[in-house]
Amino acid sequence: MPYAHTMAMGIIAVHGGLDTSREKQYIKILQEAALQGHELLSKNRIQALEAVLQVLEESPRFNCGYGSVLNFNGIVEMDAAIIDGTSSRFAAVAAIQDVHHPISVARALMEKTKDVILAGDGAIKFARKHGFPTANCVSEEQLDAWQKARESLARGEKPTQNLYTGLAYHGDTVGCVVWDGEGLAAASSTGGYSLKPPGRVGDTPSLGGGIFASRTSAVVCTGLGEAFIETLTSKYVDEAIAAGSVPEQAIKSALKRLHAQKGAEGGILAVDCRGRVGSAFNAGQFPVVVVVDGKILEDYQPVNLRRELSVH
Ligand code: ASP
Repeated sequence: MPYAHTMAMGIIAVHGGLDTSREKQYIKILQEAALQGHELLSKNRIQALEAVLQVLEESPRFNCGYGSVLNFNGIVEMDAAIIDGTSSRFAAVAAIQDVHHPISVARALMEKTKDVILAGDGAIKFARKHGFPTANCVSEEQLDAWQKARESLARGEKPTQNLYTGLAYHGDTVGCVVWDGEGLAAASSTGGYSLKPPGRVGDTPSLGGGIFASRTSAVVCTGLGEAFIETLTSKYVDEAIAAGSVPEQAIKSALKRLHAQKGAEGGILAVDCRGRVGSAFNAGQFPVVVVVDGKILEDYQPVNLRRELSVH
């Protein structure tokens, strides 16, 4: 089933990133995360989003929190963002290190300050001040993959690891959109791309680039962040929905535009204020789980545009 159209009162849709495995163990974690979020959705959509992303940040299988890809110097630097479509409150942390849940730091920034984005040392200091303890985010698997990649580079060879996941079989950036029957919200968390330069910030905390939410829609993106930032892709999706497209159409058109303008690959997930979910991608894999009124839509699949919009 390519898209869900429902009059249900609560929707959570979560993706596991580009080129992420669709093996059972990955889907299972996405489902668990979405169901945990659903428990909180009627209470507070921001809390629901945070709960979903916390589950994924804890899992070493996804490129966020513990298990993030390492940058060129072997350090994990993470980006995370959260936005409420009704109040248009947005907050993000960028290139943050050594915190268990970057998404929770972003939420604290949104709820406790008027600041919108904190990066690097400032973000870490803010996290400590608000009670987020030092945490190791480097998994053994990612450290091993980084060492091998650096060895390949030293030999003058191109590293064979996947750009997004850092490993052959592993998960990428995660993102979630929710609709509680009244309002929309979105959140995303990532370690960026493997071997990225220190200090590099991607599209995950870029409003209108990799994440957006309004009274019309909530949108999250994954893929090469630079392309999403330069094309303001998530804002484009929202505008297309506001102009009358269903989310799936808007997303397909955004991917075509991204491909035409930047030759890039990506995955996009959105829900609109009528409870319609859409998702599509033009890469290897893009696992998406949709929960409607507490039930997993077992046959939901994002649209695969890889053949039409091939990058390689
Ligand atoms: N979009 C993320 C970034 O560029 C990476 C990804 O989604 O794979 O940081």
